[in-house]
Amino acid sequence: MRPKPGEEGRDAVDKLLELLNRYRNRIIDAHAHVGPDQRFLMWATPEAVLEVYGRYGIRAGLFSSTISLLAGAREGNRHVLEAARAHPGRILPLYSLNPLEPGCLEELERDAGSYVGVKFHPDYFHVQPSHHLALEALKRVAELGLPLMLHSYDGCAEAEKVARALPELKVVAYHMGGVRWRECLKRLSALENTLVEVSSSVAEPGMVAAAVEELGADRVLFGSDVPYLEPAVSLGKIFDADLSERDLENVLWRNAEGLIGDALLRR
Ligand SMILES: [Zn+2]
Repeated sequence: MRPKPGEEGRDAVDKLLELLNRYRNRIIDAHAHVGPDQRFLMWATPEAVLEVYGRYGIRAGLFSSTISLLAGAREGNRHVLEAARAHPGRILPLYSLNPLEPGCLEELERDAGSYVGVKFHPDYFHVQPSHHLALEALKRVAELGLPLMLHSYDGCAEAEKVARALPELKVVAYHMGGVRWRECLKRLSALENTLVEVSSSVAEPGMVAAAVEELGADRVLFGSDVPYLEPAVSLGKIFDADLSERDLENVLWRNAEGLIGDALLRR
């Protein structure tokens, strides 16, 4: 039977709302930001981001400060810690590690217990993570038992190099390689210490299903990249993948819990 005008896609919407309600306040966002970004005339306060989380039933997120990317890593770390202290259990802070910024590694070693992971952005930090200067610092990250969140628009070429060089380090490829996501999945598939996070404005049908197929559902993470993207983009990609209940729960929060569990237990 043909749907009435305005009723097209109704089943898909109903399914989406049912899933969102079922998983309300359990979802963990593996990729989030607070802070200013003058390029978009934007200042994402913790309260504004948590208001967005409230709408989607997202329990908590792994946050870095935009100040770490746009100004200085250490200044941004102070900013994200302040946000995390104001919203414990909801804003889980990532340490932005720029190996070229003096004192960055020493500060991480001192404050490691306050963070659930380390964020590295090659474009903004002006160094590749596989460069020997960065690798030395990342070796220390592995020893501290923290996972690495690495931006991967290069099709995960750098994520692969780092994961091979440091098999004891858990490497999360943020954005799953971007437009080069197929390449990314091939590169990381055999590297058990890697995971992918699915946010980006690339929303080709089948991306998440392919990631689960290639890596397994225990190596795929929901992330939103809020405030640059609405959580609906990534949630839509994930809900559209027709995963089993168990796989869906892994992607939406269990894998994130596993990843940061060690860091949380140390509190
Ligand atoms: Zn980011």
